[in-house]
Amino acid sequence: MSISVPHYQDYEQLVELLNKSSNNFNMQLIDKAYKLAEESHKNQRRKSGIPYILHPTSVACILSEWEMDEQCIAAALLHDVVEDTPVTLDEIIRGFGKQIANLIDGVTKLGKIPYSSREEQQAENIRKMLIAMSNDIRVIIIKLADRLHNMRTISCMEPQKQRDISLETMEVYAPIAHRLGISAVKDELQDLSLRCLDPIGYKEIEDALALKSDERYEFIQSIKQKLIARINEFIPNVYVEGRVKSINGIYRKTFMQGKTMEQIYDIYAVRVIVDTINDCYNVLGIVHDLFKPLPNRFKDYISTPKPNMYQSLHTTVIGKEGIPFEVQIRTWDMHHTAEYGIAAHWKYKLGISKKDTMEERLVWIRQMLENQKEIEDATDIVRNIKSDLVPEEVFVFTPKGDVISLPTGATVIDLAYAIHSEVGNRMIGAKVDQKIVSIDYKVKTGEIVEIITTKDEHHGPTRNWLNIVKTSEARNKIRQWFKREKRDENIVEGKEELIKEFKKNGIYIPEKDLPEILAETVKKQRCNNLEDFYAAIGYGGIQLWRILPKIKEEYNKKISPKDKDSVQVLPHNAPEPKKKVNGGVYIEGIDNCLIKYSKCCNPLPNDDIIGFITRGFGVSIHKRNCKNVPVNIETCADPERWIKVSWAGEVQDSFKSTLEIIANDRTGLLADITILLSNMHIFIHSLNSRETKNGQATIHATITIKGLTHLQTVMTKLSNINGIVSIDRL
Ligand code: MN
Repeated sequence: MSISVPHYQDYEQLVELLNKSSNNFNMQLIDKAYKLAEESHKNQRRKSGIPYILHPTSVACILSEWEMDEQCIAAALLHDVVEDTPVTLDEIIRGFGKQIANLIDGVTKLGKIPYSSREEQQAENIRKMLIAMSNDIRVIIIKLADRLHNMRTISCMEPQKQRDISLETMEVYAPIAHRLGISAVKDELQDLSLRCLDPIGYKEIEDALALKSDERYEFIQSIKQKLIARINEFIPNVYVEGRVKSINGIYRKTFMQGKTMEQIYDIYAVRVIVDTINDCYNVLGIVHDLFKPLPNRFKDYISTPKPNMYQSLHTTVIGKEGIPFEVQIRTWDMHHTAEYGIAAHWKYKLGISKKDTMEERLVWIRQMLENQKEIEDATDIVRNIKSDLVPEEVFVFTPKGDVISLPTGATVIDLAYAIHSEVGNRMIGAKVDQKIVSIDYKVKTGEIVEIITTKDEHHGPTRNWLNIVKTSEARNKIRQWFKREKRDENIVEGKEELIKEFKKNGIYIPEKDLPEILAETVKKQRCNNLEDFYAAIGYGGIQLWRILPKIKEEYNKKISPKDKDSVQVLPHNAPEPKKKVNGGVYIEGIDNCLIKYSKCCNPLPNDDIIGFITRGFGVSIHKRNCKNVPVNIETCADPERWIKVSWAGEVQDSFKSTLEIIANDRTGLLADITILLSNMHIFIHSLNSRETKNGQATIHATITIKGLTHLQTVMTKLSNINGIVSIDRL
C-alpha cells in the first residue's frame, strides 16, 4: 500500500508535477488561484500546526496525479476558501469564472452533508446523494482528493474525530471511489480508515505481511517471469501483473470471515491479460501445467459472467515455495469492464477506446448523464449505470440528519410515512428548509424536511392524501389507517352497546372486572381478545341477545350480591348520589324536571351552561355565553328565572350541534364531508351549502355528537379535508 506518500506537498511541488504532465495547464490561472488561497489562509494552521495552505496544495497535487484538468486544480487550491475565509463565492465567480466557482461551491456543500447513522441503507443513500448533488462529477473527484488528504493526515485529530471520519470514509467515500472505478484510491481510503477503526487488527495483518515483505515482491516477480516466459512460447501478446491484497481486504477475510492468513489464497494474485477468449483457456492450461492447481478453486466467469458483467477465469495454484496464489485470466475487453465498470465496457464496444485516463472516464460518465435519451436502446448496460448514477431518486434530510431516499416526485406526505406510519398519521404540515409548505409539496434532493405532527393520537390522514402520495408504501399505510380507524370506532361502539345492554338487564360490572367476566365469552366467540370482541359487536358480527344469558350467568357466579349493590349505586363517573340527574344535567334544587337543550346555542357536555325556567316547558339549557343569555344576570329583567345547572358526570344522551364550514369550493367537497362524517358514525341532521362571491362555499352541517371532546375530534378531522378554510361551531 502507498501509505508512505508524503503527507504535505507545497506549491513548488505542484508546479513541478504539472510541468511533468503531458497536459498543458494555464499556469497563470493556477498561479492566481494559489495566490488568493495563500493570502486567505495566511493566518490559519492545520491541527498539526502546519500552515493551512499546504492542505489545498496537497489536494491539488493528488488531483494532478489523477490527471485532472486545470479547473479542478484551481478549484482544489481554493476549495476551503469560501467555507473558512471571508472570500465570497461572488468574488470567485468574478475572478475565476462560473465553472470553477461551481466546483468550489459543490465541494463546500458536500462537506455539509451530515453523516449520522451507521445503517447500511443510510450510507448507501448518502453515497447516491453525493453523486446526485454534484451535477459536475468533478466535484466528487475533488471531494475524494480532499478526503484522501485528510485521511493521510488524520493522526493529528482527536481519537473520537478520527473514528467518525474513518467510519464515514469507509462507508461513504471508499465505495464512491470504487464505483467510479478508482480502485487504488478505494484501497488507500479503506486501509487508512481501518488503521483508525481497528489499529490492533491492522497492525497484526501488517506484521504478518511485513515478515515476508522482502520475499513478497520477489515472489510475485518470479511468478510473473515464469508465467510470461512459458506463455510467450505459445502466445506472443501477453500482459502479466501481480499484486498483494490490501490490508483491508485481508482484514475482511481474516477477522470478518474467520479465515486464517493461510486460508486466504488471493493475498498474492497474478493477472494475465490476453487478446482473445481462446487464449484465456490456453493460458489456463499452461498455468495448470506449470503450477499445481488447488482443488475446487477454479471458476469460469467467462462462460458464466457475474451479474455485474465481470468476466475472467479464476484459479488458485501452488508453487514449489508452498505459497498459494490466485491467477486471473481475461481479455483486454474483460479487463476494462472489470477495472472501469460498465461504462468502460460500453465505450470499448463503441470503439472509442484510447488511453484511459480518469478525466476521460469522467467525461464518459458525464456524457452518459447528459445524453441518457440517445443511448436508451443500449438498455441493459445503460440501465445499470443509470440506476447507479442518475437521480431517479431524491434524497432529503430529516432535521436530525438522517437521509431518506424517495422516488422523484414524492411529496412531504410520502416522506412522513417513510419515516414512520405514526409520523404520517399524525402529520398536520411540513416545513422545508424552515419554511412551511403545502401538503402536496414535492421534495427535492438536499432539502431538510421537518414533518409537523400533532400529539393527538386520533389524528389521521384524509382520503384526499391517497390522490397526492407517490409511493405505494404511503398509500398502503393510509389505507391501513382507515381500516384500523374504523376498527377503533367499532371497538368503542361495541363496548358502549354492550354496557347499555348490561344496564337494561341490571348488570353492573366495574370496568376492571370486564376482562375476567367476559373472558369465557370472548373465547367462545373465537375472538383473540376483548378488543376484537368489542369490535365484532360494533360491526354487528356478534349479536348481543344471543350471548347475554351466558354473561349474566358468569356475572352472578363471580360478583357477590354485596358487590353488586355497591357497584349499582356508583356507576362509572357518576355524580354525587344525592343529586338527581335530569337528562344529563343536574339542576340545583330541582328534581325530575323537564329540560330541553336550547336550539340557539346547542350546548354540549363540558360547555359552561346555565338554565332558564320557561313557562310550561321546564328548564331550557343554554351555553353561558349564548347571545340569548344576559351577560349580567343580576341586572337583567328576570334574574330569578336564571338558575345554576351543571353537567352530570355520565352523559348518555347525544347532542345536536351545528357547524359552519367555510371552504374553497370544489367538486366533491360535500361528498368528502359526508363520507368523513358517516365514517365516524355521525348522524347528519342537515347539510347545506351555498356559494359565496369569492369562490368559497359556506356549509352548515347539523350533526349528532356525544360531547365536546367528540365534537373537537370531528372538527379536527373535518379540517383535514382539502380546501377547508375554517370550521366554527354555531
Ligand atoms: Mn479540505
